[in-house]
Amino acid sequence: MKVFVVDVARCNGCYNCQIACKDEHVDNDWAPYAKPQPDIGHFWLGIKETEHGQIPKVKIEYKPILCMHCAEAPCLKAANDNAVYRREDGLVLIDPVKAVGQKQLVEACPYGKIYWNEELQLPQKCTGCAHLLDQGLQPRCVEVCPTNVLRFGEEEEFKDLISQAEVLNPELGLNPRVYYLNLPKLFIGGEVYDSVADECLQGVTVTLTDAAGKTLTTQTDHFGDFWFRRLEPGVYSLKIEMDGCKPYELNSINLDKSLNVGAIALR
Ligand code: SF4
Ligand code: SF4
Repeated sequence: MKVFVVDVARCNGCYNCQIACKDEHVDNDWAPYAKPQPDIGHFWLGIKETEHGQIPKVKIEYKPILCMHCAEAPCLKAANDNAVYRREDGLVLIDPVKAVGQKQLVEACPYGKIYWNEELQLPQKCTGCAHLLDQGLQPRCVEVCPTNVLRFGEEEEFKDLISQAEVLNPELGLNPRVYYLNLPKLFIGGEVYDSVADECLQGVTVTLTDAAGKTLTTQTDHFGDFWFRRLEPGVYSLKIEMDGCKPYELNSINLDKSLNVGAIALR
């Protein structure tokens, strides 16, 4: 069975994959796998940009999102006349002849990855570039990615990566066949300065404690900055200490999105 593995940490948001998907499918008829994609409105593979944090501590996350080729695919169940089917390699495909008029398929995908082609009255989505796979080639998005974010191959070949990966919306229970590495978590960042000298402070100890009492400790860098990354949502407290200074404490931080606690003065 084939899978996609997507390493989000390597994605620079160049959009090559999104553009290549359009180049491959707009105006090109790849029947029996797909009819041409319209010029606008469809993102069979689309980059989702998410901004985390607040100025000046901001990180942008780019996440390629495509049909998840779910093992438990609700689109398959919602289709009449077997208009959605699974190939032997695991790819879920929409039959562009049988699916004409089956607009219910658009709503059937909880990932929002089935698009309606008004002109052809057809639901459409990523085919995994099945027409290229049949020629021993890779999907176009995989081929064009300059930083090797997107990989496609046998599940067995990627089993080590899959063991470290996550899927999107696991709560849906659809067993997606697109695996993500390094999905960003939340962060808490800030900076510490000496309010008398008006200088940033390097080497200050910063301790973060979660609701269960587990602590993480770091030190400010030469800009006075500190970061705690890959945090889960929850309640935290922050303590900032340096010899000769009054400690600073920030309690009951309810972390549901990444947070810049700002510039903190030590006296
Ligand atoms: S992501 Fe949507 S379109 Fe793709 S297999 Fe799953 S339910 Fe079907
Ligand atoms: S081509 Fe690769 S690096 Fe560029 S946006 Fe797509 S996944 Fe990210």
